[in-house]
Amino acid sequence: MTQHATTATDGSDGPDVAHHPTATLSGYPRQGRDRELKRALEAHWAGRLDAAGLLDVVGQVQDQRFGAMAAAGVTEVPAGDFSLYDHVLDTAVLLGLLPARCTAPGLDPATPAGRLGRYFLAARGRDADGHETQALEMTKWFDTNYHHLVPELGPTSEPAPDAADLLEQVRAARRHGLEPRPVVVGPVTFLRCSKAADDAPAGWTPDALLPRLLPVYAELLAVLADEGCAWVELDESVLVTGADDGLAALARTAHAHLAGLSHRPRLLVAGHYERLGDAATLLLDAGVDGLAVDLAGASRAEVEELAALPGLAGRRLVAGVVDGRGVWRRDLSEALDHLEVLARSGARVDVAPSCSLLHVPVDVSREDTLDPDVRSWLAFADQKLEEVVVLARGLAQGRDAVAAELGVSDAVRASRLASARTRTPAVRERGDAVTPGDLRRPAPADERRALQAAALRLPPLPTTTIGSFPQTPEIRRARAAHRAGRLDDAGYEAAMEGEVRRVVAEQEEAGVDVLVHGEPERDDMVRYFADRLEGFVTPVHGWVQSYGSRCVRPPVVVGDVRRPGPMTVRWTRFAQRLTDAPVKGMLTGPVTILAWSFPRDDEPRSLSARQVALALRDEVADLEAAGTRVVQVDEPGLRELLPLRASGRQEYLAWAVDAFRLATGGAAATTQVHTHMCYAEFGDVMAAIDALDADVISLEAARSRMEVLDELADEGYDRAVGPGVWDIHSPVVPTADEVSDHLARALERLPADRLWVNPDCGLKTRTPEEVSAGLTALVAGAARARQAL
Ligand code: GLN
Ligand code: ZN
Repeated sequence: MTQHATTATDGSDGPDVAHHPTATLSGYPRQGRDRELKRALEAHWAGRLDAAGLLDVVGQVQDQRFGAMAAAGVTEVPAGDFSLYDHVLDTAVLLGLLPARCTAPGLDPATPAGRLGRYFLAARGRDADGHETQALEMTKWFDTNYHHLVPELGPTSEPAPDAADLLEQVRAARRHGLEPRPVVVGPVTFLRCSKAADDAPAGWTPDALLPRLLPVYAELLAVLADEGCAWVELDESVLVTGADDGLAALARTAHAHLAGLSHRPRLLVAGHYERLGDAATLLLDAGVDGLAVDLAGASRAEVEELAALPGLAGRRLVAGVVDGRGVWRRDLSEALDHLEVLARSGARVDVAPSCSLLHVPVDVSREDTLDPDVRSWLAFADQKLEEVVVLARGLAQGRDAVAAELGVSDAVRASRLASARTRTPAVRERGDAVTPGDLRRPAPADERRALQAAALRLPPLPTTTIGSFPQTPEIRRARAAHRAGRLDDAGYEAAMEGEVRRVVAEQEEAGVDVLVHGEPERDDMVRYFADRLEGFVTPVHGWVQSYGSRCVRPPVVVGDVRRPGPMTVRWTRFAQRLTDAPVKGMLTGPVTILAWSFPRDDEPRSLSARQVALALRDEVADLEAAGTRVVQVDEPGLRELLPLRASGRQEYLAWAVDAFRLATGGAAATTQVHTHMCYAEFGDVMAAIDALDADVISLEAARSRMEVLDELADEGYDRAVGPGVWDIHSPVVPTADEVSDHLARALERLPADRLWVNPDCGLKTRTPEEVSAGLTALVAGAARARQAL
């Protein structure tokens, strides 16, 4: 067994030889500088690009990626972080744990095309040849906006190693003259990111599979050792959650076993997105050779605490001192100070971003539409690599060797601190002047309910939708033409008005009670607002993978947030003038706007939340003044920002709830405030959802067949609820019978005067035909349920 961990890449061969810090990383963006992979994948799925063509593009994207790493001066690089769709799915393939249903008849997994077919069947439920099956579920990867697939395991799962794809990445790195460090999801994180298959016995959990998984990891480690890999990185980010005692026991068993193997590369265990905390000691005690830790935003005291960890001396410590998922340039002087503290521990310190760079765009130097000042403050993946290289050099050779880079970093910091773009005194004063009274509606919920009933005079079981209608090709064309300057403002607005007219008429015809304008003018529910608020910028090339081939372009919170003028009123008022039925004003909530943006790092997120909330509060007032009687404030992001560790949750929920209440607290008692959350598992956030003090909440419920209502009832939630009766994630439109069945089930749990009838979520992704059939069924189902009351 390897007793002393030495970085095989640095030329030293024993613990007594001076360590030369290495710059490295755990992962790099996958889609290509211009999203070449996304385009190739979508062409492949549409049958326009065969397997060989897709693999060609993969080769080009890999050339780009390794080229960028080499150009930055990084020599030890990850292999296995690249993925055609998702790295958790890749791990399931690596461990031979794809569900049997993904091997369609006629697909030979021994051929490249068959292998891709099986992979995409698991990922999307469909391959390029039209085979279909049920795709794996998808869920969020820790507290990031990346979504991973959820492997399905059961007591009969028989893992078996399949390292072909991983070895291909190892060899690709070598072809670029780089030293590959395979990066693989570790056994504990893999199990905790999986779920029990439908046919597993009740109560069985994936943890039970560990004994069968470890020999497979052992075989893989042996294969990687044979391949000449000095180190392997096991991503055990689940350990940062400190979730439960079972987790610690699982980790101890797993890593003591792997560390005890005689034929393996050295083991680097990584914990990203939070500090490892007690798990660091656990892993060192288990005998791992090194740790990769997330030190984003760490204070000097935290760094000193880490440096004092017993057992660290002589082991490898990959210090994630550059925030891998934020977009700001690192204060290099401070980072170097932290690295020096760590090096004094006797650990063999290397420098890296705090997590995979998967969560940031590729290269900020292309952002020539950004204000040059703002651009100079930002660092995307390529700039972060430059930073870790400078820091590794500074640590190896001393500050003088990087004096010029430190000088630039100091100047950037000073420019940002001094800039009027980051601080708006009037905004600060208004934020400071917020009182508890501002967070309270003018009347308690039950009084509001009576007032709103009298004002709105809705039938029992009122029908509505969540906001968006299909983004048709015509809408997209008009938007693209407008952006390109081929369609002037008046032409664009006329096109959108035509769309609103159509959507209002469709709802009136169907007999919907509370209408929406359809959101044709919004291509993105967060960016629409960010583009209309001071304090945000949106990089043009700022694409980040959300899942599979889907990428998002999050705005960046640069400074204090202010609303220069109304953002949505014009469209809601236009729609309201077309009908006597109430039209809902549609806003994205403060927490969601921030959850789907890159936050600033010079102020806490709570400060931005209060500023966004005040902007939305003014918008609500303007909507009311324009005659709006129902306002919906969407907060599907509320649970996403929930801290990974239980200890941080109370503080987060307090400011998140306050932000929502500040946004909506100024609404008249007669104004009905709705909120919408997409998800159906409330668990940890139930009390917070009640504390939002909204009048109506709509949420996803169709797939769970109204089960979410039990959870609400258990918690004593007594406000009005619109559990979705139409699963809008599926192209299958419900019938009126299905809608009324859902409602009958809902009525067993909820009195009729608190039940609304709506789809699970917005209709943006559905076709106009599906929407028209669905609305008809929704209204007919509601009518049937009303008759039965
Ligand atoms: N109002 C938004 C829509 O209907 C809500 C979207 C969401 O919940 N993600 O599109
Ligand atoms: Zn939703």
